[in-house]
Amino acid sequence: MPKVKTNRVKYPEGWELIEPTLRELQAKMREAENDPHDGKRKCEALWPIFKIAHQKSRYIFDLYHRRREISKELYEFCLEQGYADHNLIAKWKKPGYERLCCLRCMQPRDHNFQTTCVCRVPKHLREEKVIECVHCGCKGCASGD
Ligand SMILES: [Zn+2]
Ligand SMILES: [Zn+2]
Repeated sequence: MPKVKTNRVKYPEGWELIEPTLRELQAKMREAENDPHDGKRKCEALWPIFKIAHQKSRYIFDLYHRRREISKELYEFCLEQGYADHNLIAKWKKPGYERLCCLRCMQPRDHNFQTTCVCRVPKHLREEKVIECVHCGCKGCASGD
């Protein structure tokens, strides 16, 4: 397939390797956003969107910070272009937040009883073994789980 290149955005080297995955996730994201949400609770309708946003950020994060397969230039390009959430990635670099699902789940003010969302509580410390947090549908994202 011929590549359509615009003059507005200059794609760094290596972009063609990650583009298919990012395009696929973008397409899924659009699908989730256009989903009619019939019969779902309002918060549940947002879960797939959070999940895909998380996947995109995690993909970029892993490629750069763990697998070291992309250049700093490409990494920063992805952040600038909104392919990954740099606020979320900043948290993943901190001990205890390596698996954080979304920024909302670590904000104490959004939760009535706990200091953070139930999904942030390690599995061995919570009574319910199977959970789904209301914010993003996370099933548990404490570091040791
Ligand atoms: Zn979580
Ligand atoms: Zn969350």
